[in-house]
Amino acid sequence: MNFNCVFTSCNYKHNDIEEEEFLKHLKEVHRDEILEISNKENMEIEAVEMITVSNSKVFINS
Ligand SMILES: [Zn+2]
Repeated sequence: MNFNCVFTSCNYKHNDIEEEEFLKHLKEVHRDEILEISNKENMEIEAVEMITVSNSKVFINS
């Protein structure tokens, strides 16, 4: 999978990595943002992570 981190302040961009690896990036770098969204939207942290992962996936048509 290719990932381009959805957080605008972040330059993280990696090709051919596993979803778990991107999840690790989220937990390490965006823990606070995720927590904040979780509180604000009244959502589980896991759900916010899932949405962030899916929004950061890059699909290439080639
Ligand atoms: Zn990031």
